[in-house]
Amino acid sequence: TTDVLPYKRILLKLSGEALMGSESFGIDPQVLDRLAEEIKDIIQADIQVGIVIGGGNLFRGEKLARAGMNRVAGDHMGMLATVMNSLALQDALERTGVETRVMSAISLTGVCEDYNRRFAMRFMERGQVVIFCAGTGNPFFTTDTAACLRGIEIEADLICKATKVDGVYSADPNKYSDAVKYESLTYEEALHRQLAVMDLTAFCLARDHQKKIRVFNMNNPGALVRVATGKQEGTIIEC
Ligand code: UDP
Repeated sequence: TTDVLPYKRILLKLSGEALMGSESFGIDPQVLDRLAEEIKDIIQADIQVGIVIGGGNLFRGEKLARAGMNRVAGDHMGMLATVMNSLALQDALERTGVETRVMSAISLTGVCEDYNRRFAMRFMERGQVVIFCAGTGNPFFTTDTAACLRGIEIEADLICKATKVDGVYSADPNKYSDAVKYESLTYEEALHRQLAVMDLTAFCLARDHQKKIRVFNMNNPGALVRVATGKQEGTIIEC
């Protein structure tokens, strides 16, 4: 029943790379369907879900700028990439029977709705998944920052950052065999040890508003449900 669940509403951050699977670009439909099934499981557990998706599987402004493009134009492409990912996830979710809304930080009439916090809260209360796309709507920010921003706005109890590693480690586990995984960290420990949880803008926003962050590996089957129901999985960062 609902009252034993530790979190009423979560904000899930999926990187664009999470949709890529084993490919090097784009969206893997099988991966997308599996993600949709896992999201459905948390909706069925009566947990409200907001999602922010990245765009790194398609375009990143920083990379385009390194190749010579104007950074703002590149960031606009990056934000539009998050819209494409969101539409793909919406489609996969609706095919599994989960009602979904896509709300964009940039107006895209006829494609998706404009972001509106009050409407988003009402949709989530009705059991609809709200996907927040186009990041913050501004260049020079990341979708991690968008995830923390929306998480704070919608009063999410937890920000769930899905990655390709099992949590936050003392060093890169792919490079150092003695790297240790932290079960929990405070914001100050993470900052002091310069652990790359999120970019600093995003991380400090979460810290300043005491938003708990759990970093976990989305490729572990059932991980999302465990995270959303408050089980130990990955690393939690809190006060
Ligand atoms: N972006 C932006 N403003 C935002 C969020 C994203 O300009 O508020 C752009 C930026 O170019 C970024 C791209 O969108 O590189 C994709 O987002 P991100 O790199 O955060 O995606 P992820 O790494 O999570 O796949």
